Amino acid sequence: MMHSIDDAKEAILAAVLPTLQTQSVSLDEALGRISREKMCATVPLPGFDNSAMDGFAVSSEDASTPGRTLRVVGEQPAGPNENLTIEAGEAIRVFTGAPIPEGADAVVMQEDTKAVSDGVIEISVAAEPGEFIRRAGTDLCQGQIILEPGLRLQPAHLAVLASQGIYAVTVSALPRVAVVTTGNELVPPGAPLQPGQLYNSNAPMLSSLVRSVLGTATPVSHHHLSDDPCATTSLLAELRESCDIVLLSGGVSVGEHDHVKKSAAEAGFSGELWRVRMKPGKPLFFASASDCSLFGLPGNPVSSFVTFKIFVESALWKRCGAANPLKMSRFLSGRLAEDLENKGDRPHFVRVKIDAETGEVHPTGPQRSDALFGLSQADGLVCIDANGRLNAGTEVSVQLT
Ligand code: AMP
Ligand code: MG
Repeated sequence: MMHSIDDAKEAILAAVLPTLQTQSVSLDEALGRISREKMCATVPLPGFDNSAMDGFAVSSEDASTPGRTLRVVGEQPAGPNENLTIEAGEAIRVFTGAPIPEGADAVVMQEDTKAVSDGVIEISVAAEPGEFIRRAGTDLCQGQIILEPGLRLQPAHLAVLASQGIYAVTVSALPRVAVVTTGNELVPPGAPLQPGQLYNSNAPMLSSLVRSVLGTATPVSHHHLSDDPCATTSLLAELRESCDIVLLSGGVSVGEHDHVKKSAAEAGFSGELWRVRMKPGKPLFFASASDCSLFGLPGNPVSSFVTFKIFVESALWKRCGAANPLKMSRFLSGRLAEDLENKGDRPHFVRVKIDAETGEVHPTGPQRSDALFGLSQADGLVCIDANGRLNAGTEVSVQLT
């Protein structure tokens, strides 16, 4: 039996449960982590009325005509409030971010003034009330929600937290991930290559994919197995105890050396799902053992990559308590530069590059499941339905890689 992509996604997500464990991390370590608390603003933004420009704080009533001269009676830089005051006929030199002096309700920017004598300026434009003043609380009010649980922390979220004086945030604990590559033909980079061998490229690809989803601090252990059923069974039995997520590549197809499914069952994994109607990635395998999820990804590099993007990514987010794991992948739309046809009976994920200038979408390299270099040139994936055809110029949605 072959599963549809949607059914497989649903079954996998149903089997992966959010962790209950949380931890407090500093903002420095929080990028990409999933928040687990709700927070409200305690400090409004801006915190006080301040100048949006380098210029002169004035009373708009007083400075209502171009050509008006004003006496500069003080200077307020950004920083501690000097508690200065202006009277009629006066201005105070201010800089961007400076607190607005008492009596002023506008700022005339420096470029609209000239010095006429020592300590006297002339304005060349009329000041409008409120002009170039950033009023307290106009960006963020006290009490407003700034963080919800289940959100993936991005740089601007961390900046908002810092703006509140917050230096640590509660996030989901990271899962313990194992990347297991399989294959007698594989050699680690750095070792000499014998005829018939190739370097193991899935290991760094899969661990960095995990870290691109959950943050660079995610602990990932690496293992390599020869095509040996006993060794596979014993490693999987060990990993089901020590890991939350196992990403295994290779050995899930139908060849004699593809023993992973059997080994997984022997190691105590159950609820197996195997084969998905998609290209590349058909042999995808998934099974669980109590709290541990095992993904058997096809060994071909592009198949491994695509099945990670389509199934593993959302599962990792769900595991970490994301509120909307299926809605977190990023998409861009663009127009196809050429006709694309899928003559097969499975949806085809085509690797594409989006031209930064024209927005046109171009396939990259041969669309084979081993074509790793073409994958490295791509920005994303376009899915073409089984037996589907998309003409040049069609607007397509690109899942960013
Ligand atoms: P398999 O799924 O084990 O039948 O592998 C399918 C293809 O992917 C074979 O050509 C393998 O050599 C290749 N392959 C499997 N694992 C890796 C890996 N870790 N790095 C690079 N290529 C791999
Ligand atoms: Mg293999």
